[in-house]
Amino acid sequence: MNFLSLIEAKREGKILAPEHIREFIREFTVGNIPDYQMAAMLMAIYFRGLNTAETTALTLAMRDSGDVLKFPRDKRPLVDKHSTGGIGDKVSLPLAPLLACLGFRVPMISGRGLGITGGTLDKLDSIPGFKTLLPAAQIIARVQQVGCVICGQTDTMVPADKKIYALRDASGTVPSIQLITASILSKKLAENLDALILDVKFGCAAFMQTKADARKLAKAMVALGNECGTDTRAMLTDMNTPLGRAAGNWLEVKESVACLDFRSSRREEAHSNSTKPAKSLLTSAATADDLKSLVIDSAAHLLVQTKKSKSLTAARKLAEDCLNSDAPRAKWDEMIVAQGADLTAFNRKLALDSTAKTVAEVKSEKAGYVSRCDARIIGEVIRDLGGGRLTKDAIIDFDVGVDQIIKPGERVEKSATLCRVHAADSAQAKNALARLKTAFEISTKRPAKIPLIVEVIQ
Ligand code: URA
Repeated sequence: MNFLSLIEAKREGKILAPEHIREFIREFTVGNIPDYQMAAMLMAIYFRGLNTAETTALTLAMRDSGDVLKFPRDKRPLVDKHSTGGIGDKVSLPLAPLLACLGFRVPMISGRGLGITGGTLDKLDSIPGFKTLLPAAQIIARVQQVGCVICGQTDTMVPADKKIYALRDASGTVPSIQLITASILSKKLAENLDALILDVKFGCAAFMQTKADARKLAKAMVALGNECGTDTRAMLTDMNTPLGRAAGNWLEVKESVACLDFRSSRREEAHSNSTKPAKSLLTSAATADDLKSLVIDSAAHLLVQTKKSKSLTAARKLAEDCLNSDAPRAKWDEMIVAQGADLTAFNRKLALDSTAKTVAEVKSEKAGYVSRCDARIIGEVIRDLGGGRLTKDAIIDFDVGVDQIIKPGERVEKSATLCRVHAADSAQAKNALARLKTAFEISTKRPAKIPLIVEVIQ
């Protein structure tokens, strides 16, 4: 085939046939189309766009460029969640074991962070012994046995996306709605899912800064996911404020466990003759309602999508009751041990207040109500402390971050803690404190409550 004619056709705004798109992707993946021709095609797509049939063909061709996970027949539906990413977004960690306890199988293939946005795999790498790289056969075996796995993409899954993403990055063609939807969904569809819930974030610390752009992306992904045969829904969620009370890799694992331990830590406080020290540090103050509600709503949508629940109200109750039981925390332990974690070392690490060299507090200069807690500033501080990557190969410091974050609408007194910073040394902590102060605004009047989930697209 003459691939130049396909590039020229797209440059002129013509519609490409699905078989031509499939061949283009297949030949590029095996190295028969040079990078410069793919870069030219990407730029043509960026300016001319793709219609639904073309985007579907591109997505399925990318999915089929490598291995697709094949699970044995089982009555437990295969489900997953994808988030476009934000500060403190640790939902995947408590959600995977919760879904397994609700009778799902969860092959959660996740990614690493870049820039200010954290990555699920980086958070999990802070758990002693935990392995995020598993071959396909082990991913399937863990999912069948435990019910959930959280791991990275194997080298043989969706290789076309890896090559195309690198070219998009270098050719200025990342911000194309069709290329983004094809990239995200080709990876999720390679998990062979029955249902997918998307968390599309908007706000100062999100990939999509405005609600309108987030809605456009969410609509495109929902239409494409359904077109490709996976029941897909999207929630539009606010990312102007960090999710939960902690951001930074290890601190987010700790908060995720606090979210799973929420009820039992309360019970333990009530029966203070308990001898277990770890949970007493993981009280309700260590987490926040927004995290819990996003975990519950993500699970509830999947329950409705797979017809395990008749209504969202019934599904929320089912998910909340399950989260409030001891089962998801036990499932979490089972999941991390199945992926190589040393549970004793993990529990010992959980009991520490901090694993960083220095902890310092940002204090409120006046009494009032928190009216702003800027997720972008907090994300940039953590990235600069070494908790995020500026380049793909940068080494991460898992121990740095920000916790005990006070949230908009909460009351503070003068000199109360607005957040704590965990840093590698006191000079870095001092610099971070000065920047973190600018993330908060205190007002005399309680601000109107900002909804977390503003819209659901299905
Ligand atoms: N995440 C992806 O995996 N791909 C994109 O194109 C954008 C975000």
